[in-house]
Amino acid sequence: MHEILLGKSVEEIKSLLAGLTEKIPSYMAGQIAQWIYKKHAVSFDEMTNISVANREILKENFSLGLVAPSVSRLSKDGTEKFLFDNVETVLIPSKDRLTLCISSQAGCKMNCTFCATGKMGFSRQLSVAEILNQYAFLARDNNITNIVFMGMGEPLDNIFAVMEAIRALTAEWGFALSPRRITVSTIGMLPALCRLIEDTECHIAISLHNAFHTQRLALMPVEKTFNIEEIVELLKNYDWAHQRKLSFEYIMLGGLNDSLLHAKTLWKMVRDLPCHINLIPYNANGTDDFVRSSNSAVEAFCNFLTEKGVSCTVRSSRGEDIEAACGLLATTH
Ligand code: SAH
Repeated sequence: MHEILLGKSVEEIKSLLAGLTEKIPSYMAGQIAQWIYKKHAVSFDEMTNISVANREILKENFSLGLVAPSVSRLSKDGTEKFLFDNVETVLIPSKDRLTLCISSQAGCKMNCTFCATGKMGFSRQLSVAEILNQYAFLARDNNITNIVFMGMGEPLDNIFAVMEAIRALTAEWGFALSPRRITVSTIGMLPALCRLIEDTECHIAISLHNAFHTQRLALMPVEKTFNIEEIVELLKNYDWAHQRKLSFEYIMLGGLNDSLLHAKTLWKMVRDLPCHINLIPYNANGTDDFVRSSNSAVEAFCNFLTEKGVSCTVRSSRGEDIEAACGLLATTH
């Protein structure tokens, strides 16, 4: 097996070079990192300031870890979906940004009742390189401004690889993106959530969906282990009033969580937290009996929160015609 370089720091590449039998000068580690992270090279042959002989040694011992997507589908709204070895990645253009929605696992273990990824079950954890490859490859031809960990999988259920990927995305030696351009969305697995908040500066989005414990439990089995009250209590220990943003995602499910009583309970739960609420109209995925809330219910819910002083918007659904919208990512079909 060739050691994969994508995700490795200059220092780590240096020690890999030092371990080779045929020596390559250690300063070349910096050049290699430049090619990978700054010039978006996808092969050793692009590394023209490294001699052909040294490139051959590199090829014999390492792989860059960069793999092209196999299928790409383009929605009529400009959203594009890519398939990387059973993993889906979505590129979403909007007025002033180009957002990349990346996956952290192939499939998911969480089994949320409304989500297509949950329905396909869990296939495997993505490696650091597989997570980064989704950005690295697509950043070659696209001026990506934001990254959201909102694709397949639960990022905190693959915390090690996700933290390493964020390190390479934000490090000076790496892709050098501001952590304020990255949002990690999670159902809120507690110990890992603490680590994510303390060891990164990324924005955090929590999939809340129902402020009543028993009702959330019926939608999301994870509520049994990490309940939403505890998650919100933990979030109160951190600073969300300045640069870093906290948001809650709330799928609007007709007749299930969209009443004014639900809005009021949600408001009571989050009123002491500087945060934003993102209402997501439910996207039907053909495998369950949920329905999307009516526009008037969504509007009333949103107005209630806004009047209480909670910032709230309705997320516009993108890429529905190519199964790229929230909750539709699944690769079994
Ligand atoms: N597992 C993480 C990351 C995925 S983010 C998380 O749940 O936060 C994907 C977002 O889409 C989540 O907020 C998820 O709850 C939401 N979603 C899932 N199924 C959906 C559906 N059918 N319609 C609309 N949103 C959905």
